[in-house]
Amino acid sequence: MPKHFLPHSALQSLIDVLAGQGYAVIAPQARNGSIVYEEARQADELPWGVSLNQAAGSSRTHQDGHSRCFAWANGPQALKPLVFAPSEPLWRIARTESGFAVEVDEMPKRPLAVIGVRACDLAALAIQDRHFLGGPHPDPHYGARREDMLLVAVNCTHPASTCFCASTGDGPEARSGFDLALTELDDGFIAQAGSPAGERLLAALPLQEAQSEKIEAAAAGVRRAAESQTRAIPGTNLRDALMARLDHGRWQEVGERCLACGNCTMVCPTCFCHAEVEQPGLDGSDSLHIREWDSCFGERHGYIHGKQLRPEISQRYRQWLTHKLASWHDQFGRSGCVGCGRCIAWCPVGIDITEEATALLK
Ligand code: SF4
Ligand code: SF4
Repeated sequence: MPKHFLPHSALQSLIDVLAGQGYAVIAPQARNGSIVYEEARQADELPWGVSLNQAAGSSRTHQDGHSRCFAWANGPQALKPLVFAPSEPLWRIARTESGFAVEVDEMPKRPLAVIGVRACDLAALAIQDRHFLGGPHPDPHYGARREDMLLVAVNCTHPASTCFCASTGDGPEARSGFDLALTELDDGFIAQAGSPAGERLLAALPLQEAQSEKIEAAAAGVRRAAESQTRAIPGTNLRDALMARLDHGRWQEVGERCLACGNCTMVCPTCFCHAEVEQPGLDGSDSLHIREWDSCFGERHGYIHGKQLRPEISQRYRQWLTHKLASWHDQFGRSGCVGCGRCIAWCPVGIDITEEATALLK
């Protein structure tokens, strides 16, 4: 695919062209010490000059005075909340004179264009697509949001200390699943289409010819991002090794530190567990059936037919880790971890999946 140069000054054109094509444009923005993905109309809403320091149990933005808007790795959100809503009504049951009627909630219609998708999040989206859309019963709510979604990837050049996507093989360069991929330099981006929609988008933008020095500088930035990652998962398939260690003493140790808060599962771009709850109207005339994110760390998640299957926190941590890194291989043919590092940064007590997996293999 040919490469082009998109100056920073043309970012507004990218937003305008996408909005003109009917997309709600979602882009990263600095908020309350973090970076979130929200609808944007102006390029100056992006996090210009912002850096993000992340370590086990901490994440904080700061203004650095540099000229870039993607000099950070990832905030707490991935693409997950945009396709798999944290809470949404699926249907409503209302009493009628002859019995009851079921009304299915309207599917969202407005297509989304997301600017700034990271390679790890594209890999996670591919897994979620398989979970929600593969098989004989695709999820219509997920499908409605995913349809017509346009993805502008930005290759990572500034990984956080918590990132380890190079070891899972999912980053820092986006290789597939995007419409347009950008690599940021101090004055703009090297741009490359990944789909016919991306090519049409490039044709509508004020591009410049990409000089070979800029192309090489962008590639070197991504290479450095991979080389600078200090964390790593000890192998891409830990299925047999972890399943052989279900009685390892480390589960108890980590269970004593873990608060069972569920933060790690909420920020994880591949976790898809959910609960379905009824919300009856106060006057008893109707009831809303709601799907909401759930976590295997919560007490109700392991409660089945009068019995709590995992009463100890150590058992819940074991359930999470062995699903993510072991039995996921049986379900999806790969690990459930894309190396984004969010569960490390957003764990209030700094539990580190790479450290735990390494300790368990000893
Ligand atoms: S397990 Fe942690 S590092 Fe892996 S994908 Fe989930 S949040 Fe990211
Ligand atoms: S590992 Fe950390 S983030 Fe996950 S439930 Fe335990 S304390 Fe919360």
